[in-house]
Amino acid sequence: MNKTDYLQAMGVDVWVDKKTKVKAIAEEQTPELESNTSSRGLTAGSRKSDELLDPAVKPRDDEAENINLLNSAHSGEKEKKNDWSSLKEEALTCTACGLDQTRTHVVFGVGNQQADIMFIGEAPGAQEDKQGEPFVGRAGQLLTSMLKAIGLQREDVYIANILKCRPQSNRDPKPEEVALCTPFLTQQIALIQPKVIVALGGTSAHYLLNTSSPLGEMRERALTYGEQNTPLVVTYHPAYLLRSLTEKRKAWQDLLRIKQYLT
Ligand code: URA
Repeated sequence: MNKTDYLQAMGVDVWVDKKTKVKAIAEEQTPELESNTSSRGLTAGSRKSDELLDPAVKPRDDEAENINLLNSAHSGEKEKKNDWSSLKEEALTCTACGLDQTRTHVVFGVGNQQADIMFIGEAPGAQEDKQGEPFVGRAGQLLTSMLKAIGLQREDVYIANILKCRPQSNRDPKPEEVALCTPFLTQQIALIQPKVIVALGGTSAHYLLNTSSPLGEMRERALTYGEQNTPLVVTYHPAYLLRSLTEKRKAWQDLLRIKQYLT
C-alpha cells in the first residue's frame, strides 16, 4: 500500500458494501436461538412451537428439557438487558467524583452490546458532553473513518471512555476520578466480552494496563486485559493523529493488526 492509499483509507470515506456487512452481522447474531431450536428438535419433525406454548398440551420429557434450555437462554438475555439498564441508570445519576457539577451529559458509551471489538478513549470532550455520545467531535470523525477503512461501521463496535463525564477544559483525568469511574467501564467490558480491546491513546492504555510505559513501546507488544486475557491493542488517539500526519502510517499498521482479530 502506498502513502496516498493508507491516508485515503483513514481520512476519507471508504466504500463499504453495507448489504454484505448487514447480512454477515445478521447471520452472526441470529443462529444462536435458531440453532437451539432446530438442532434440539423444536422445528421440523416435532410438535409446533405454538402447541408447546399451550398449557393444556403437556410437553414430552425431551421437549420439556428443550423448553427449559430456551427459557434459560431468554432469561440470560433478560438478565443482560437488566444489567445494561441498571448500569446505565447508575452512570447517568452518578455524582461520585464531582464532575456532575459541570457536565451537560453523562457519556455512557455507544454501539453494539455484542461487539467483537471495543474502542476505549480517555474522556468526553466538549462535543461529546453536549451530545452525550463518545467520539462525535473532530477526533470522533477520524475514528469513524478509521473504522470504515477496515470495513466497520460505528454500529458494529462499542465505543466508550475511561471517564464518563467531561473534565473541564479537557484537562487530564485525575486518578481519583478514574478510580471512581472505571467500575462502569469494567462492567461494560464484562458484559460485552469483546474479542479485542483497542486502547486509544496513552492515557487509556495506562489505566487499562496499569502501567506507565510509553505508547510507542505498548503499540508493539502483544498485550492482554483482565482475567480473561482479552487481547488489547494500543494505538494513537485520533486527536493526536489529527495533529500528526507522520504517525498515521503507524496507526494504519495498528488497524491492520486489529482487523486480524476479527476474522
Ligand atoms: N476524546 C476521547 O478520549 N473521548 C471522546 O469521547 C472524545 C475525545
